[in-house]
Amino acid sequence: MWLLGILIYLAQAALFGYACRSIVENKGYDAGSWFWLGFFFGIFALLVALSKPDQNYAYVYPAESSTVPSGPSDDEDSWTCSCGRKNYAYSNACAKCGKLKTQVEQERQAASRKVTTVSEEKLEESQVIQYLKEYKELLDNGAISQAEFDKKKNELLASEAKV
Ligand SMILES: [Zn+2]
Repeated sequence: MWLLGILIYLAQAALFGYACRSIVENKGYDAGSWFWLGFFFGIFALLVALSKPDQNYAYVYPAESSTVPSGPSDDEDSWTCSCGRKNYAYSNACAKCGKLKTQVEQERQAASRKVTTVSEEKLEESQVIQYLKEYKELLDNGAISQAEFDKKKNELLASEAKV
């Protein structure tokens, strides 16, 4: 009869082992060694397994936060803030710095306008110089008088100043 006793004991130990293992597995732990803890320590291991905090909840938060969109991808309709953050076309404010979409667009337009103005001024200036050179040649050739040249020169410089 002692053999039956050992078998019952082993069956009971194995039951505790499986119970411990499934409990900690459900709680999100690596359950590899818990079968043997349950097998050897029985009810004590089971109580420890039951008292362990459920790690599944701890795992939920990082998983959820990682699904928060980091911003649109290149092929999605988007606008880029002046801080460098890409934002969805439907959002009116930057997700990073909170700047308004319209504000960013105005800044961009102002910047491009400035660039155009500068290049126009340069073009205008080079044109004025070109005209002055031509008038100087006419003056040197005697085609126009010094007075006429001075008049043209003042006109050109005045028109440049207006731009
Ligand atoms: Zn921004």
